[in-house]
Amino acid sequence: MTSTQGSTGSQSSLREANSVRILDAVRQFGSITQVELSHATGLSPATVSTIVKHLLASGTVETRHTIRSGRRAQLVTLAHRAGLLIGLHVGERSLRVAISDSAFEFLDQREMPLPVDHRHDTTLDRAAMLISELVDGLGSALSETLALAIAVPAPVNPATGAVAIPGILPGWEGVPIGEVLGRRLGRPVAVDNDANLGALGEMRFGAGRGTGSLLYVRASYGVGSGIVLSGELYHGVLGIAGEIGHTLVDPHGHICRCGSRGCLNTVCGAQALVDSLRHSRGTVTLTDVLDLAEAGDPGCQQVVIDAGGAIGAVVANTAVSLSPEVIIVGGELSRAGSLFLEPIRESVRRRIPLAQSQKLEVRAAELGQRAELYGALALAADLAHIESVAS
Ligand SMILES: [Zn+2]
Repeated sequence: MTSTQGSTGSQSSLREANSVRILDAVRQFGSITQVELSHATGLSPATVSTIVKHLLASGTVETRHTIRSGRRAQLVTLAHRAGLLIGLHVGERSLRVAISDSAFEFLDQREMPLPVDHRHDTTLDRAAMLISELVDGLGSALSETLALAIAVPAPVNPATGAVAIPGILPGWEGVPIGEVLGRRLGRPVAVDNDANLGALGEMRFGAGRGTGSLLYVRASYGVGSGIVLSGELYHGVLGIAGEIGHTLVDPHGHICRCGSRGCLNTVCGAQALVDSLRHSRGTVTLTDVLDLAEAGDPGCQQVVIDAGGAIGAVVANTAVSLSPEVIIVGGELSRAGSLFLEPIRESVRRRIPLAQSQKLEVRAAELGQRAELYGALALAADLAHIESVAS
């Protein structure tokens, strides 16, 4: 009796382990035939067939017929649980796309480099092609997409859906970004600033879960922040709320892209950081600086520490004004970990009334470089809900 129970138990745990292997392979390949699954997992065709039947019955996967090498085959994909959501993050140097089901489980994601000073037309063309390719790879159709949302590295005017301040993102000015991509794909598209969507992502899925108010600092090629108050993103009238990269830190400093003198971005935007290393390190990129700092280069570490101090002073002032429950730090510079975070924490600690009256914590973003994508997926879901309520 005991041995029978033991055998049944080990059989079910074996089936469980095999199911995990098959699901991992389906996730990795997006869509895959049962023969290919057998090759990819090393399981026998009979075992694959049995497990796929179970996964189909539990609604975890879907199957559809296809032709492979001239023969009929069954294509296995993850079940999309009531449609797809697509999040995009157009960065200064890269484009990231993530496709999830409506439960925010990532089905596929891709990143591609973008040229410096890329323009809206070519970038949105690339984005549309990449999205079609990824949706196709999942064995799905664009019509199964509920909605998309796109994060851009500039403030977005909520009334127009276009970049709110001229000069910040050349080549994208005056363009209703969501409308343009929406026309190409035939699906509804929302658009917002990337720091705002990072804040939304961290609030719903990351280090800000369970908080009603937070300040998300995105320290990347430029510095920005997203503000959540009473559980809602705060945009301000023109969508420029939280643009801490354009607050004054040096009245005698350089002229910023926005036209003002001495903005925080002129002191610790990527250009300022790499310029400060030119004398001793020659031409380096922001990625080089972070890699070198991680490898122990004292000069690059100093640049990261000083950036943390400059950003920390502005963050502390902003926090005094807003009184958030938590400050979350993300963006490329947060890759440097405590080297970057500690000077920000120190600046906040120095604001004694603020630090004493509430235990204001400065946390690293939990979602890392995917915070903005998660936020975009959340915004897409919100848009899909609005659309479905409206229709
Ligand atoms: Zn500025």
